[in-house]
Amino acid sequence: MNEAVGGNNDTVALQASGLHKRYTEGGLDVPVLNGVDLTVNRGATLAIVGASGSGKSTLLHLLGGLEAPTRGSVTLMGRDFAAMGAAEQGEWRNRHLGFVYQFHHLLPEFSALDNVAMPLRIRRVPKAQAREQARAVLAQVGLDARVAHRPSQLSGGERQRVAIARALAGSPACVLADEPTGNLDRNTADGVFALMLDLARRQGTAFVMVSHDASLAQRCDQVMFMNSGRLQAG
Ligand code: ADP
Ligand code: MG
Repeated sequence: MNEAVGGNNDTVALQASGLHKRYTEGGLDVPVLNGVDLTVNRGATLAIVGASGSGKSTLLHLLGGLEAPTRGSVTLMGRDFAAMGAAEQGEWRNRHLGFVYQFHHLLPEFSALDNVAMPLRIRRVPKAQAREQARAVLAQVGLDARVAHRPSQLSGGERQRVAIARALAGSPACVLADEPTGNLDRNTADGVFALMLDLARRQGTAFVMVSHDASLAQRCDQVMFMNSGRLQAG
């Protein structure tokens, strides 16, 4: 089974087939993923819901090429991670993926503007241009008035919006978000989630969001459930 998620054309951003992952550390053999197939089209929003420990973060790491599957493959914008060297993987990831985590992982010593500009600087975009683009993305998440603030000077919801802006700054095909609202109160979580859906629609960026909150998840184009190492359609 290969679920095609949303999208209004055939452009596939991210595809996983036959993903298996088992951890064999300290003499333990822990099977986590047991055959995950997934197709994420450009602009689609997908929520993956599952209990703690069900393998959601592991799946996102594999989808992002941050860890290799035990078996199966992940193709990002037409290229199989396994066919690329580490440096090439890094460049391809920087170009086509954005990441948002439960904890913002913003650099404390940098302004919101420079945090958002970071993926562009890594891509060797000149500083002035990177800042200009970062400013535009911060405006899209409603933070034009917060560009000079450091993470400690922002609210939890604002920090997650900066993290989303950072994920989007390089115009990736897909953003992988691991419990992006898990650390926020209900109302703030609602607003941040709505913002991600809105940006996905406006920019054609796909979002794969892991959440244990089924009511938020229902607002995505598609919801899938992680169960016994497999994805089931909602
Ligand atoms: P979730 O994000 O759904 O809470 P995870 O993907 O973090 O679940 O973890 C799934 C399972 O894999 C858990 O049982 C966890 O203990 C195990 N696991 C995750 N990472 C590792 C690792 N690096 N080494 C060994 N086991 C791991
Ligand atoms: Mg997790």
